[in-house]
Amino acid sequence: MNTDRIIVDAHTHIGPCRVFDLNDSEQDILTSMDSNQIDVSLVQPYPGAPSSSDVHDSIARMSQKNPRRIFGIASINPHQDHDIYFSELSRCVKNLGFVAVKLHTIGHAINPAGADGTMIFESAQQLEIPIMIHTGPGIPFAAPSSIAPQLEKFPNVPVVLAHAGHGIFSGEAIALANIYSQVFLEPSWCTFYNVGAMIDALGAHRVMFGSDLPANVPVMKETIRALDLNQNEESMVMGRSAINFFKLDL
Ligand SMILES: [Zn+2]
Repeated sequence: MNTDRIIVDAHTHIGPCRVFDLNDSEQDILTSMDSNQIDVSLVQPYPGAPSSSDVHDSIARMSQKNPRRIFGIASINPHQDHDIYFSELSRCVKNLGFVAVKLHTIGHAINPAGADGTMIFESAQQLEIPIMIHTGPGIPFAAPSSIAPQLEKFPNVPVVLAHAGHGIFSGEAIALANIYSQVFLEPSWCTFYNVGAMIDALGAHRVMFGSDLPANVPVMKETIRALDLNQNEESMVMGRSAINFFKLDL
């Protein structure tokens, strides 16, 4: 398939969230995709989901109904026994076809450099999937630099920084990505100045479009459009970076 014009939203959520008091339905996501010309969405549970396995099942059903349009990212409370964590993640990847796992620094109160952070990196390495890591609000765990010790230990695990430092820590996100070639940036909630600096420093192939919320899709689309990128760069940021990073089977 020609992927030059495909728009991929690398980061959106479905279901209830008791951490941030949010709730987005399947219809919220599909309606936003239709009205904003989004071809593909990568959908994950919110970190405050009462049962992430139920949400994983609903993402899998949504994906079956919308093939090559909806892909899943797993998100599991990491503060439990490794066997329990790994068996749910393995089910998501092997049985449900999910393409990545989320490490939610603030939503799950997890230090990426700590023992449970190591467990997530080991699990991702074993299942050969990338990790999306929340960065920005939630310091110190959400500081991009807090991931550096794991990047040293797991050089083959691709990592995408959700929110790419969220503006205030975007310089740190760029610095981390400059040092570690396995690091990519998803700049939802950043300003267009931040996103422009990322593309200038790293190239468009290291930056991927994401919204975080159905209601934020038009805002982030306009942010990218305001950068006035050339056609190749825009096609990278809006789709091909994510297609390559997550190895999406389109
Ligand atoms: Zn998110």
